[in-house]
Formats: sequence, C-alpha cells, structure tokens
Amino acid sequence: MVTNKDFLTHKPNESLSVIESLDFPLLKDKKIKLDVKREDLVHTYLSGNKWRKLKYNIEHAKRLRKSTLLSFGGAYSNHIYATAAAGKLYGFETIGIIRGDELTADNETLNFAIQCGMKLKFVSRELYRKKTEPEFLLELENEFGDFYVIPEGGTNALAIQGCEEIVSEDDFQTYDVIAVMVGTGGTFSGILNASKGKSHILGISALKGEFMNTEIENLIVKFDLKGYQNYSILTNYHHGGYGKSSQELNDFIPEFTSHTQIPIEFVYTGKLFYALFDLIAKDYFKPQTNILAVHTGGLRADRRF
Ligand SMILES: *Cc1c(COP(=O)(O)O)cnc(C)c1O
Repeated sequence: MVTNKDFLTHKPNESLSVIESLDFPLLKDKKIKLDVKREDLVHTYLSGNKWRKLKYNIEHAKRLRKSTLLSFGGAYSNHIYATAAAGKLYGFETIGIIRGDELTADNETLNFAIQCGMKLKFVSRELYRKKTEPEFLLELENEFGDFYVIPEGGTNALAIQGCEEIVSEDDFQTYDVIAVMVGTGGTFSGILNASKGKSHILGISALKGEFMNTEIENLIVKFDLKGYQNYSILTNYHHGGYGKSSQELNDFIPEFTSHTQIPIEFVYTGKLFYALFDLIAKDYFKPQTNILAVHTGGLRADRRF
C-alpha cells in the first residue's frame, strides 16, 4: 500500500530504460547473447509499456482540452493502475470502469487507483461487454460529463505510436531477435511497425488460445500499420492462461531474479524469460543469435495473491 502522500511527484524518464546483458551458463553453452531492455525502470508506478501507451494519449487529450480520462479494465488491470497514476501526474481527473468484481480491501490495483484520485464505477460483465458501444459511452457522458476515452488495455493508434519508441533503430540492426510479451498486442504491433522489417519480432502470448496471430493482423489493418511479416507469436507459454501460473514458472521466477537482480512477475515478464530460456535450451535459436528481451514492467502484478 502506498502511504506517502507525496508518492507521485516525478514524471517518467525514458532515458532510464537501459539495456543490460545477462550472464548465465546456458547462454555461454549455447553461444546466445541475451540482453534486456529495462522499460520497468522508466517510473515506479507508470512503468514499462503502459507509460508508452499513455504518453501520446495524454498529449492528445491536453490538446483537445479534455480534463478527464476514462478507461476500462478488470480489477487487477495494469492499465487502470497506470491511467490513474498518469491522471495524478499530468493533472487529469480519471474514471475507471471496472468489470465485475467489487472492490476488496486487499486489492492493491484499485486502492492505488483510488489514492491517485480515480473514480471507480463497477459494472456487470454483461454491461462491460458494451464498452465500445456509443449508447453506453453516451450514458457514461451523462453521468460523468465530457471525457477522453482510452480503450481497455490502452491499445489505440496513439498507444502503438508510443510503443514504436521502445526499441531504437540501432537495436533493430544489432539484434537478430526482439522478444516481447503480448496481451492486447498493442506493444508488439508498435515494435513490429518500427522494425521496418529488420530483425525477427518474437511475441509470447500471455493469453491461452491460438487467436493472437489473427489479432496482430487485425491490428495491422485497423490501425493502418505497415504490415511487416518479420514476426511470429508463440502461444504455448501461457502457463494455464492470463493471470495463471504453473509450478515451473513459480520456480523459475525467484531463480532468475536472484541471479540477475532483475525483478519479474508471473503475468507477463516471468513468462517471457521462462519462454526464452526454454527455447534456448531446446536449440530454437542458432548459435551466435543476439536476442533483446523487452522487460515491459508490470511488477506490481505479483501483489495480486
Ligand atoms: C499490459 C502489459 C503487457 C501487454 O501489452 P499489450 O500492449 O496489451 O500487448 C505486457 N507486459 C506488461 C508488464 C504489461 O503490463
């Protein structure tokens, strides 16, 4: 729980997102170079891809002279958490439309959001499904007044634009593979679009199901992206599904963190590094492959249980 009333004063700093090299016997054995892009270091509360996704939306909302941001999410949504923090830091009122679950005292995400000043409205799963329908948005406008809408998970054209800046042009030259977790696919799509077809963009799906390849193609069409095909998505590292874990993953995470001093969690980044180490052990990559893993942040997700 955040207790210091001055807890949110400094703004995200993208220059803190450095690249670090990992040193493991397995990497030496297999002659693989594995580096990490530390997006988690950009800010304590607004870290990783959630900041990148909000950044140009905040600018746009300011330009439109909107004073309120409204978004949607589940009770453990990193995006709701980041939107609340962004509102507090950049001077917006914030409203979170929360799916289903009522607020429980131990829910860090929603308690944090409330501390940032976010107003929460809990809606049934049924109503939540109507979140993109104009009539529902009109009802919300009647209730809350004018606002700037950010979609669930934060993925829109401006979010993808922000994610295009996670990996630099030099990095696409240096690395054969850029690996990143996929939730809605917004972050992945931004990186793919920035790649100009260079290096292979490898996505690991945090969700159970085979639909993610179609979803990326849908995003390419919907947001008029370049449609580069230098990518693949692996759908067999979900460990039971979104927000679920496995014994193997639970064992892997503390081992990784004690060896590297890099914190990871089981919803996203734990699954990324688990997948990469599994793939490397199984000779999925050729010797001398240079891999850049994007650490997308999300570290408070672990406090869920
Ligand atoms: C939200 C999130 C993702 C997934 O991002 P998408 O753009 O929705 O695919 C990955 N990692 C972390 C830590 C996240 O919080």
